[in-house]
Amino acid sequence: MSMSQSITASRRFLGGMPLWQQILIGLVLGVLVGLLFKDGAKLLAPLGALFLNAIKMLIVPLVFVSLVAGITCMQDTAKLGRISVKTIAIYLVTTAFAVSIGLLFGALFTPGADMNMVASAAPEAKQAPSLIEILVGLVPSNPVTAFAEGNILQIIVFAIALGVSMNLVGEKAAPAVKLFNSLAEVFYKLTDLVMRFAPIGVFALIAGVVAAHGIEVLLPLAGVIGVIYLASIAHLLLVYGGLLALLGRLSPLRFFQGIAPALAVAFSTSSSSGTLPVSIECARKNLGVSEGVAGFVLPVGATINMDGTAIYQGVLALFIAQAFGIDLNAGQYLMIILTATLASIGTAGVPGAGLIMLGLVLTSVGLPLEGVALIAGIDRILDMARTMVNVAGDLMTTTLVGSSENELDRSIYNASNKQ
Ligand code: ASP
Repeated sequence: MSMSQSITASRRFLGGMPLWQQILIGLVLGVLVGLLFKDGAKLLAPLGALFLNAIKMLIVPLVFVSLVAGITCMQDTAKLGRISVKTIAIYLVTTAFAVSIGLLFGALFTPGADMNMVASAAPEAKQAPSLIEILVGLVPSNPVTAFAEGNILQIIVFAIALGVSMNLVGEKAAPAVKLFNSLAEVFYKLTDLVMRFAPIGVFALIAGVVAAHGIEVLLPLAGVIGVIYLASIAHLLLVYGGLLALLGRLSPLRFFQGIAPALAVAFSTSSSSGTLPVSIECARKNLGVSEGVAGFVLPVGATINMDGTAIYQGVLALFIAQAFGIDLNAGQYLMIILTATLASIGTAGVPGAGLIMLGLVLTSVGLPLEGVALIAGIDRILDMARTMVNVAGDLMTTTLVGSSENELDRSIYNASNKQ
């Protein structure tokens, strides 16, 4: 076989392979290259940054146009209200489950038992923003500023208001509706094109992370890393798998197959906001969720639903209590569930945000803030797991809401040839 023939053959081989398998290969190769080449792997950084920039470029316009287009498909405002209530309810319930699983695993495996740390001073309580402040901040005084700052919640509010107004105007708004629908198609295509580079982008990003976190850094805290990964896997399989099977009568296997590209991108970028375009694509193309439901439930989830972060905060609150030899009472456990749920809602979908919110949880129950410093060195490795769960939680909720509202095409969901 000539050189050009073999290149064509390998291209055909890769081209025929589903995207999620290509991304998985990129992931494994990235780990190997990171382990073998260490500093050399850092040369790949620009490639990773290029991919990251390309998907970030899509977030604001994609969320905006797909949500407006989606709302215009939902003429029924009662339905929109129902979808919102279901979405928020599932987000809250699964997050409370997540903190509880975190606490359970932390108590069962006691990863901090042998750390023997000594706290220097009691931390001061931090003030969280009030509910009124949060609500007032939802409405953008200037939508252009909201776009420029990438404030997803404000963009969602603006998009819903615009979409509903277009529905109310009716016939005269037809050209605007057509424009948004056509733009949405264009952005879906652009996402598709960017995603073709995902295997290379994921490869470069993972190689960099592995090279930066050598075994020496990870070994002393291997216990807590293991417990967080274990609790995350348990949450994915039991809570998400269970809810899909019981409430939606849907196959968990097909779900995980369909969301594999989003999981891989979440794992390698540690950003659920950054993964949003990929999540929307997976929901529509692989799970068969309608544009309206995916365009609404996913962006909301990427900003407020962080089950992985909640698990992490549950495990770490116990880990730090154990490491500093502090016994927690029932009231403090309840307080952790409450603050970790709220803190996870307030966590931004960007790398490292959960670590900052951990400070809030620790101070609320009087645990030493030095715990944050203890974890900081390995946080990226934990962030990869929690972001993956965060994204899976958004997609699970989207699927359940879609199926309960007849906005899910089961023939697409059940198809075995996922992208
Ligand atoms: N990195 C996480 C995310 O984007 C948030 C966190 O740090 O917990 O979902």
